[in-house]
Amino acid sequence: MSVSLDQLKAPELLYKSLAAKLVLGMPFKDLATVDSIILRELPPVDDADARLALKRLIDISMGVITPLSEQLTKPLPNAMALVNLKELSTGAYKLLPEGTRLVVSVRGDEAYEELEILKDIDATMLLHNIPFDEENIGRVHAARRLFEYLSENSLDFPVIHHIQFPNGTHRDDLVINAGTNAGALLVDGLGDGILLEAPDQDFDFLRNTSFNLLQGCRMRNTKTEYVSCPSCGRTLFDLQEISAQIREKTSHLPGVSIAIMGCIVNGPGEMADADFGYVGGAPGKIDLYVGKTVVKRGIAMEHATDALIQLIKDHGRWVDPPAEE
Ligand code: SF4
Repeated sequence: MSVSLDQLKAPELLYKSLAAKLVLGMPFKDLATVDSIILRELPPVDDADARLALKRLIDISMGVITPLSEQLTKPLPNAMALVNLKELSTGAYKLLPEGTRLVVSVRGDEAYEELEILKDIDATMLLHNIPFDEENIGRVHAARRLFEYLSENSLDFPVIHHIQFPNGTHRDDLVINAGTNAGALLVDGLGDGILLEAPDQDFDFLRNTSFNLLQGCRMRNTKTEYVSCPSCGRTLFDLQEISAQIREKTSHLPGVSIAIMGCIVNGPGEMADADFGYVGGAPGKIDLYVGKTVVKRGIAMEHATDALIQLIKDHGRWVDPPAEE
């Protein structure tokens, strides 16, 4: 996630936005916490509060990435320096304190000779990024070319898909663009993460979009996975209403997948590999499944959601929703 200096003025809000759990105001990381942040500008060296907020993030192993010039002028201990290939070729990064980790921004459409320098450095990760207004070559093609180069040269740096959206980008366009560019590569196993920057977009929206994309690409489950049928003339209940009810009560179970299917004719066969199934068995009646095995039949509709929750509990997959501090 991209973080601004303003957000550091309210550290607890920032920690919450990053989905770090708070214990007595201190952040703790879990599965749904952002891994790294990028700060285009570091707080001044004498801004003790802002720098302490960053230190606390680094202490929980969150990566803090900042441009090389910032890390050279206002060094933040254990922050990572963001460099491009030109800064690598000039050797400017060698002025950094020894042991500073490097994050290298790469376009993917550079001449192979320019990429050669990657063989001589120990980068922590690469950010693949082509500015929107310079997309002479498709982002996906450039990325594939980069992955090919890395593979041919046995360079196994983690690669993060970094997309910077211009102000005014519609939310739907942002989601579709991220999905068709980064998502198309991630489902092919090309890439390790995503960094969406859009200064005029809500922070939570960007974080949720990023995690949704990772979950959709089967890379990181931060919430319950749902499978449901599209519904048809055979559907035995209001699929949207029941799905919303089930989601409301079970959306905090990362790693659990629940199928909600309208009928038993095709439902059980189309539940993919869901852990639990909620399937219309007869009008007003629900059958519950564990995997592909039916375990409860003919439950009255009004009790079926609670029965599903009990089933999840019986199989040791339930945790209580996190309490607000
Ligand atoms: S599972 Fe049943 S209700 Fe759902 S789309 Fe298939 S046939 Fe229709």
